[in-house]
Amino acid sequence: MSRNEHLLQALQAPSEAITSMRVGLIGDPVAHSFSPRLQQAAFDASGIAARYELWRTPASKLLERIHSLCEKNCLGANVTIPYKQAVIPFLDKIDPLAVRIGAVNTIVQQDDYLYGYNTDAPGLLRALEEQGIGTLRQDGQVSLKGYTAILLGAGGAARGAAFALASAGVERLIILNRHLERAQLLAADVQHSYDGPIFSLNDPSFLIPHSSSIIVNATPVGMHEDISLLPPEVLAHFDSDTFVYDMIYNPAQTYLLCQARIMGLRNANGLSMLLHQGALAFTLWTGEPAPLDIMRATLL
Ligand code: NAP
Repeated sequence: MSRNEHLLQALQAPSEAITSMRVGLIGDPVAHSFSPRLQQAAFDASGIAARYELWRTPASKLLERIHSLCEKNCLGANVTIPYKQAVIPFLDKIDPLAVRIGAVNTIVQQDDYLYGYNTDAPGLLRALEEQGIGTLRQDGQVSLKGYTAILLGAGGAARGAAFALASAGVERLIILNRHLERAQLLAADVQHSYDGPIFSLNDPSFLIPHSSSIIVNATPVGMHEDISLLPPEVLAHFDSDTFVYDMIYNPAQTYLLCQARIMGLRNANGLSMLLHQGALAFTLWTGEPAPLDIMRATLL
């Protein structure tokens, strides 16, 4: 039976009295997330009776929360900060891409089994391509040949980004993280499937600017305060063809993006990545194509 047939069967089962399916966002904090309005619009437009909820989960309740995903009326979940790595041991099967990345942002429940996926990685590449960064190859994959990628962070989202950027063929990858060992660990993991050079740093003043750089912030730094891991005096050394992408979308303009704009660098916030990772998650839960234009409209 297809995923969609399962879904319809669940919704049509009167004895179970299921009137609506549930899906939600597991994390802490979650209040800042736009996923509920993005996903709710997609469910409503597709005629699927499902509710997208915010499931703020303290670490002590994570296991309980994961168990609750096996309830009959649950489609699964999205996972956000700080649990993208922590959920993995509790799932039944992990998609090969998510295994390589070591982070799960989408969980699908089917027949009491929990499947883990990573849609952040392809979501980021689609977002960059939409911003005019990279080219779409004949096989539908995004190529970032010729670009230098500078990744800020080495947590769950950064892991997806690092594998995505490497798989898109960037010329070199530079990972800057507060804890150097975490950056080095990520670099070692990516190096297994990447021929280019990877550098790990914890001090931005050691960054050597390259032309055609893509700077990706994959940390929450800048979400609550006007600070950035890349101080303006370092950013100022980058060429005008540099593109700055901040995965943060709330606030829409972080300090990093403001500085980039002041310096005349192209830049974008994380809304486009949110859209594309969310669209891929929607299809995994429902088996339906995501109504991308409707989802995009909720973010305007
Ligand atoms: P995570 O796994 O907890 O990783 C957090 C990362 O940020 C780590 O590299 C950590 O460094 C660094 N960090 C945290 N606080 C810091 C501080 N005060 N100073 C310096 N570094 C700090 O979180 P995540 O799931 O990867 O999420 C990261 C961000 O990406 C969040 O803001 C999330 O909302 C955003 N995101 C957006 C999208 C989207 O669709 N737009 C998708 C995914 C994630 P250490 O390793 O040194 O601790």
